Amino acid sequence: QSATFADGSPRKTIVILGSGWGSASLLKNLDTSLYNVVLVSPRNYFLFTPLLPSTPVGTVELKSIVEPIRSIARRAPGEVHYYEAEALDVDPQDKTVKIQSVNKDQEYTLDLKYDYLVYGVGAQPTTFNTPGVYENASFLKEISDAQEIRVKIMTAIEKAATLSPSDPERQRLLTFVVVGGGPTGVELAAELKDYVDQDLKKWMPGLSKEIKVTLAEALPNILNMFDRSLVEYAQDLFKQEKIDLWLNTMVKSVDKTHIRAKCGDEMIEVPYGVLVWATGNAPRDVTKNLMNKLEPQDSRRGLLINEKLQLLGAEDSIFAIGDCTFYPGLFPTAQVAHQEGEYLAKALKKIHGVDQLKWQIAQAAEEDKQMLESRLDKLQGDFEHFKYNHMGALAYIGKEKAIADVSFGQSQYKLAGSFTFLFWKSAYLAMCLSFRNRVLVAMDWCKVYFLGRDSSV
Ligand code: FAD
Ligand code: NAD
Repeated sequence: QSATFADGSPRKTIVILGSGWGSASLLKNLDTSLYNVVLVSPRNYFLFTPLLPSTPVGTVELKSIVEPIRSIARRAPGEVHYYEAEALDVDPQDKTVKIQSVNKDQEYTLDLKYDYLVYGVGAQPTTFNTPGVYENASFLKEISDAQEIRVKIMTAIEKAATLSPSDPERQRLLTFVVVGGGPTGVELAAELKDYVDQDLKKWMPGLSKEIKVTLAEALPNILNMFDRSLVEYAQDLFKQEKIDLWLNTMVKSVDKTHIRAKCGDEMIEVPYGVLVWATGNAPRDVTKNLMNKLEPQDSRRGLLINEKLQLLGAEDSIFAIGDCTFYPGLFPTAQVAHQEGEYLAKALKKIHGVDQLKWQIAQAAEEDKQMLESRLDKLQGDFEHFKYNHMGALAYIGKEKAIADVSFGQSQYKLAGSFTFLFWKSAYLAMCLSFRNRVLVAMDWCKVYFLGRDSSV
């Protein structure tokens, strides 16, 4: 796109970092003809994270929950320039961002100048510096994590099958432990147990009975963001389905084969075959660097923003959205990031109007300036704050059951069971970013219903 509009006014540059929930929603809604739009992300696709826990065991295929970023950009009214790269450093003074290619066949670093930066790099899994986690556990954040978990499960099962049932090594290999009783850990434990009971049981009836799925949670209960009654429903179902629930259990260290945890006042040591770590989020290194450059940024939980999603300390040029931010009452969820992206698309349209008017004022004859300035005041006073509309929380808890804490208008509903699972399915289908994803996910579910899961590596 040309650097100026037909009237000679400059076309400003927006650099968007990330291709996750926040940035993809912005890109989908932004009038890209108003700006030079540059997107930087190491991932050339959007990932529909709510169905990621279904992928390691093959309930949903990974290809079904990704949407190429080019396909989103193609539908935008103006051009979008994409770099398959990661941001290394942001210089808020100089308004530049240093990026580095992640494509090994095409190495480069570049300094990109921006007028506006939309910072949406998400967060990384936290380990709370628990020794041995990075070396031995898998996370569940990216596609590569789901693939790694699948390989580890299949490898453990095949190795165990070669050992005698009395061999303690066989028992170790068949112990799958998930640490963290938030929704990620709960949904993954539920999917693992479904796979063992519904599919593996058919091919390896003896071995499948020996598999233990365990969920360890430091607090007295799982799923803290849900209503007490739903938490109890989920915990009862886990007990019924023989998912070992270790509550009040804080994992303290991990090695290749064992977990050490504080369970009440006692220290326990438990062997494991596959370990998945799901204890929440921490800021990425590039975010920590940015925090250190701006005086008002004094929270360790994420970038501080105001009610217009402007970054404190760089309000004139940087917006931050999604999991990389911290704002009281806004949780690190897809729902929040998605709504922030939508809001920002509208805000950037207004900002374009303001910038155009400022340019016209600079060009205008003295006698026209006053009229234009009063229009500018009105436009600037028109900026709404971001208002989050919480639609509720949903979680899959296994055996074709789900829980939902949902709001419709002023009413709150607490739902649990098989009908809630159908609601969960339709809500997630509706949330899919594209028609293609919707069709593929629906086909995966049908396939599993009639033919079972395809979990071969
Ligand atoms: P992300 O979606 O994580 O995207 C960040 C983007 O930034 C990615 O494209 C990444 O590649 C890119 N990036 C990373 N580093 C850099 C860099 N240095 N430079 C440039 N780009 C970079 N929330 C719900 O509301 N409902 C759910 O059911 C739900 N289920 C979930 C299930 C799982 C397994 C997980 C892990 C999360 C789930 N969440 C759910 C939370 C939700 O996924 C996050 O809140 C959401 O992804 C946040 O969006 P984001 O845009 O901030 O970050
Ligand atoms: P979380 O922060 O929600 O939960 C992490 C859990 O790990 C906490 O309950 C914590 O007490 C526990 N924990 C921490 N350290 C531990 C240790 N050493 N030993 C044992 N337990 C430990 O993390 P999450 O589940 O990854 O979710 C991250 C975000 O994504 C949340 O905002 C969540 O709402 C969102 N999410 C939503 C859904 C959904 O709505 N269905 C699904 C997945 C994620």
